[in-house]
Amino acid sequence: PTVSAMEVVEAQDVDFNDVGGLDEQIQELIESVELPLLKPDSFARIGISPPKGVLLYGEPGTGKTLLAKAVAHRTQATFVRVVGSELIQKYIGDGAKLVRDLFDMARKKSPSILFIDELDAIASRRLNDTNGADREVQRTLMQLLAEMDGFDSRGEIRIIAATNRLDVLDPAILRPGRFDRVVYVPMPDEEARANILKIHSRYMNLGEDVDFKKLARMTETASGADLNAIAMEAGMLAVRFDKESIGMQDFLESTRKVMSKLESKQEELP
Ligand code: ATP
Repeated sequence: PTVSAMEVVEAQDVDFNDVGGLDEQIQELIESVELPLLKPDSFARIGISPPKGVLLYGEPGTGKTLLAKAVAHRTQATFVRVVGSELIQKYIGDGAKLVRDLFDMARKKSPSILFIDELDAIASRRLNDTNGADREVQRTLMQLLAEMDGFDSRGEIRIIAATNRLDVLDPAILRPGRFDRVVYVPMPDEEARANILKIHSRYMNLGEDVDFKKLARMTETASGADLNAIAMEAGMLAVRFDKESIGMQDFLESTRKVMSKLESKQEELP
C-alpha cells in the first residue's frame, strides 16, 4: 500500500493471552467482531445483523490497540490501522479521499478489520463551523459516516475505533448501524496489574524472589503501558549490572522510576 497514514498488517502475532485483565471486553469483541467474521451464518440463521463497528474508550495505554490486534489475529483478518490525528495533519484537504481509499482497501483485502485510533480527532462535535480546518475535519467525518452506512453488516469488514474522550464525540457516530457497541476499557485493577507484569516478563529470566502481587500493590495508578515499561526497565537494569537473572530489587527500582515519572506528570496537569 502506498498510503502512508495506513498501516496494513496481514496477520497479527498478538493474541488474547497477551492481554491482562479485560475479560469482559474480550468477550464483547468475540461477539461483535470475531463471530460475525467467522460464523456469519449463525447470525443469518437467527435473523439478526451483527454490529458493524465497536468503539473502545478509556485512558491511554490500557490495551485498546492490543485488543483490536488480538481479535484480528484470531480471525486471520487483514488489520488496517489509521490514526485520526495523522489523517488530519498529513492529508490536509485529502482526509475524505483517504477514508475512501481505506474502505476500498478493506474491501479488497477482506476479511478485514479497520482500526481507527484517536477517533476523536476526526469525530468531535464541531466547535466552530466557519473555521476552514474544522470544515476539513467535518468532511473527513462525513465520508467516514457515508462509508459506514454504505457497507453491509453481514459482509467481511468490521470497524474498531478507539478514543480517550467519549464525551467530545459527535453523537452521529454512535447511531445504530455505525458504532453501535461502545465498550469501556478500564485501568487495570490489582489482579490485572499482576497479570500484565507477568505477561511482559514471561520470556525473561526471573529470580525466585520476584513478587508480582507486591508489585501490583505498589502500582495503583499504572496503566498496562506503564507496567510494560516497568518490566522492560527491570530487565535493562539486570543487563546493566550483568546479572544472571532479574531480581525483585531490579523490579523495585524500575517501579520507583516509572511511578515517580507518572507522579510528576500528574502534577503538571492543571
Ligand atoms: P492509546 O489510547 O494511547 O492509543 P491503547 O489503549 O491503545 O492506548 P495499547 O497501545 O494497546 O494502549 O497499549 C500500549 C502497550 O501497553 C501495549 O502494546 C502493551 O504492551 C501494554 N498494555 C496495555 N494494556 C495492556 C493489557 N491490558 N495487558 C497487557 N499489556 C498491556
